[in-house]
Amino acid sequence: MPQCKKCGNRRLFGSSKVPSVVPYTNGPVSGIIGHFHTAGEVETITSMGVDKEITTLAFRRPEDYFDLCLECGSPDLEWSGSRGI
Ligand SMILES: [Zn+2]
Repeated sequence: MPQCKKCGNRRLFGSSKVPSVVPYTNGPVSGIIGHFHTAGEVETITSMGVDKEITTLAFRRPEDYFDLCLECGSPDLEWSGSRGI
């Protein structure tokens, strides 16, 4: 499960690998938004106009995709669990 080292967020994450294609003024910088259970697994992924394929992959391998805290914008995440990236 991901956790932001800066603010402790464990719920909302984005991906710097998937840039947003929707030009929101105050929107997220990420094209996908991962909603995590506090238990660690992905609850839902919101797509900001990206391909369904990408959200499917991110769902399967969240640790390969989510690398941005959407609470404070920090890329400094800690993954605990099986792979420990
Ligand atoms: Zn944070």
